[in-house]
Amino acid sequence: MNEENVLNIKNLNKIYSKKRSSTVESIHALKDLNLEVKQGEIFGLLGPNGAGKSTFINILGGSIFKTSGNVIVWGFDLDKNPRQVKASIGIVPQEVNIDPFFTPRQLLELQAGLYGVKKKERITDTILKLVSLETQAKSYSRSLSGGMKRRLLVAKALVHQPPIIILDEPTAGVDIELRNKLWQNVKLLNKQGVTIILTTHYLYEAEEMCDRIAIINKGSLVALDSTENLLKRIKTKIVKFTLNKKIEIKNESVVSLKLIKYDDNILTISYEKNKTNINEIISFINMQKAAILDISTDDGKLEDVFIRLTNS
Ligand code: ADP
Ligand code: MG
Repeated sequence: MNEENVLNIKNLNKIYSKKRSSTVESIHALKDLNLEVKQGEIFGLLGPNGAGKSTFINILGGSIFKTSGNVIVWGFDLDKNPRQVKASIGIVPQEVNIDPFFTPRQLLELQAGLYGVKKKERITDTILKLVSLETQAKSYSRSLSGGMKRRLLVAKALVHQPPIIILDEPTAGVDIELRNKLWQNVKLLNKQGVTIILTTHYLYEAEEMCDRIAIINKGSLVALDSTENLLKRIKTKIVKFTLNKKIEIKNESVVSLKLIKYDDNILTISYEKNKTNINEIISFINMQKAAILDISTDDGKLEDVFIRLTNS
């Protein structure tokens, strides 16, 4: 095993079997998944609904059994040392399941008890502060907002101070302000040395947060690379020019150029970065004695890569 990896996944498979009257329907939710997560990184696991993200995370968390394959967490084999695996990770689940009649402090104390954290080793107040719930420490959980409940779930995952935190769609249905706060917390944890694995379907969040990203589709890994490299895969660039007069331009006037829109004097085109340099397009415009009054470009987003890799 590579010392730097906190997670080593080899040929992981999960087949769910569902009994439907007389027949058994099986769903191959994870297909020969191979991936590694390095210590200290923020690792994003992306994929459309039903891709297998939660299945993967729940296998790590021990709430679902894998069908086959190898899972090593923090150096421990899930088959041989399930308790050590459990102690090495903190999971923030997709579903919010908080007992409404406990206060955040009580819930954290309870959770610490479940993990066998001794009273004097508990860091309940520090955790409450970290997730900005210190003022709500003694309020009934049912009175907390959606965002606060999410942060309480993060807090619960931290009581045993695991070196790896896994968050499954933690910001689904959380408003922007609280979302930002949650991500600040996550970044802070990461700065303190905690390895972060997260799933989200907000791609710009992944783009912003993650050092590396794995994209899965229908249970198979379709991409695994640094966020930077994934973004480099976007080859099409879109440019909008505001000109002082109308020019003659059509598809392929310049190699790979495509006309998207030409309204008034605003010209929107796309071109392939690896085939054409923007200077060639500017020269073409200048040749017609038109002046460029304004120019704006749109570097593709992770979304473009995602759509291309998961469309089928
Ligand atoms: P994601 O989290 O990426 O949306 P899931 O891991 O929840 O995907 O689901 C992956 C596939 O497995 C889906 O086809 C889903 O319907 C199926 N699945 C998930 N949980 C179960 C289960 N408990 N029993 C049967 N099928 C399941
Ligand atoms: Mg899910």
